[in-house]
Amino acid sequence: MTLKQNLSQYFGYDTFKDGQEKIVNAALRGEDVLGIMPTGGGKSLCYQLPAIQMEGVTLVISPLISLMKDQVDALGEMGIPSTFLNSSLDDHTYEERMAGIRDNQYKLVYIAPERLSAYSFIELARQLNISMVAVDEAHCISQWGHDFRPHYQAIPNFIESLTPRPVVAAYTATATVKVTQEIKELLKLRDPVESIIGFDRPNLIYQVVKTGDKFTYVRDAIRKNYENASGIIYCATRKTVEGLAQKLNAQGFSAAAYHGGMGAEARQQNQHDFIHDKINIMVATNAFGMGINKPDVRFIIHYNMPQNMEAYYQEAGRGGRDGEISHCTILYSPADIVKQKRLIQMNQTSPEREKLLFENLQYLVDYCHTNECLRKKILEYFGETAIEDNCGNCGNCLDQSEMMDITLEAQKILSCIYRMNSRFGLNMVISVLRGSRNKKIMDMNLDQLSTYGLLKEHTLESLREIIMTLVAKGYVLVTADDFPVLKLTAASTKVLKGQEKVFHKKHLVEMKAVKSKSKV
Ligand code: ADP
Ligand code: ZN
Repeated sequence: MTLKQNLSQYFGYDTFKDGQEKIVNAALRGEDVLGIMPTGGGKSLCYQLPAIQMEGVTLVISPLISLMKDQVDALGEMGIPSTFLNSSLDDHTYEERMAGIRDNQYKLVYIAPERLSAYSFIELARQLNISMVAVDEAHCISQWGHDFRPHYQAIPNFIESLTPRPVVAAYTATATVKVTQEIKELLKLRDPVESIIGFDRPNLIYQVVKTGDKFTYVRDAIRKNYENASGIIYCATRKTVEGLAQKLNAQGFSAAAYHGGMGAEARQQNQHDFIHDKINIMVATNAFGMGINKPDVRFIIHYNMPQNMEAYYQEAGRGGRDGEISHCTILYSPADIVKQKRLIQMNQTSPEREKLLFENLQYLVDYCHTNECLRKKILEYFGETAIEDNCGNCGNCLDQSEMMDITLEAQKILSCIYRMNSRFGLNMVISVLRGSRNKKIMDMNLDQLSTYGLLKEHTLESLREIIMTLVAKGYVLVTADDFPVLKLTAASTKVLKGQEKVFHKKHLVEMKAVKSKSKV
């Protein structure tokens, strides 16, 4: 049968999605491939369709155990024999499936990467006619990626142990230039045919909101704009999820919670209710969403800042799958950065990786403070150049608020960092600028600096906002350490010498002190 016939007979589609045909054809010609496509771009078909046409079996390596069963079930529906091996199986089932694989009963076999360290599996693999090894979520092999999985490092040796060498196909939805390069090198892809599909989602309207009262913002925004619409609110912790869901329900909204600490049954129930519109709002940790394909999610609110741009892009990307407008909002608060930093430190990874995680977090912090197009900022992260400087359709492009010249403030701040010998963090710099008399300042005689009290008319919030904006613009550097300090950059000189002017939104520069913090 021809490719098109298989496409329609097995999958029920008349046409390929962007980038699929190129990859499918290359794999069928026996070439290695690299598919970089956003979530929902249709990666699975890129290996499932050639797998059907190729002789022998295709191994699919995937870290997402929960998705394996879904995929295998779906393939079963289409009449394509497939199975999976992972740690969720009992011994008996595992042995049965191994026997089935040995008998060449399947066209596709999904495996978790840990299997590659199991001797019995490696032995079995050597005896099989493996035509293709498809590596899903290929960025997991990269130390630079946000989701490094040590077991992925076993893949190259595994492939080398197979004769003849199968086609190697790698797929990911999250790849920066650096990660893409590493995927190619580490997986030893041979001159791969690449298909890179754009990351832009024009129907998603990104925005960043700075408010001292997140709950009121959420309540009013939903009442005003999304009545009876479906939406997801992501929170950083289980406690916030529980609290917020409860509070929303108390105010008459229809919300449910989802996080890893809940029983499997309750989670499934809530997910089901959300997908079938029995509830409108899902309040969740990042445990929610993998593999969920609800088309009409109209808003995605991040109640707390996510850890990095990849995670944000994935989570925001669950909005507007139907192509209709969806709003993606980050509710920014400085306290969230502190929280995320603590989470990174608690993870106790290698110093290099910790540095990388801090840098990734900083990119998102910069995103929250830029005055440029947010869409452009997202695309830049993924190594794509935006077509236009202003998309005209994000929080910043749509923002009409008044800008003010903050060059003088910037100069005072930069001088202060310089006078403090680039040895102090954000809070100390702010304390000096505001002329604080706290003990640390007095003990270190920082009140003797010529910049002491230079910006005492500003609130703490205002100075934090201005300094973070200077960081986002590249005039100040925050070191990626356990104790980050502020430093000057090459660009700082231009501002200090008055060669470059700095502007920022007036209402943010004039930010008032936050008095009451909302409880959730
Ligand atoms: P990814 O793994 O890239 O996130 P999936 O493989 O899950 O994406 O596919 C996303 C959606 O697109 C699925 O609902 C799938 O059925 C659909 N899809 C894939 N290929 C096509 C196609 N050629 N035509 C129409 N829909 C498709
Ligand atoms: Zn824009």
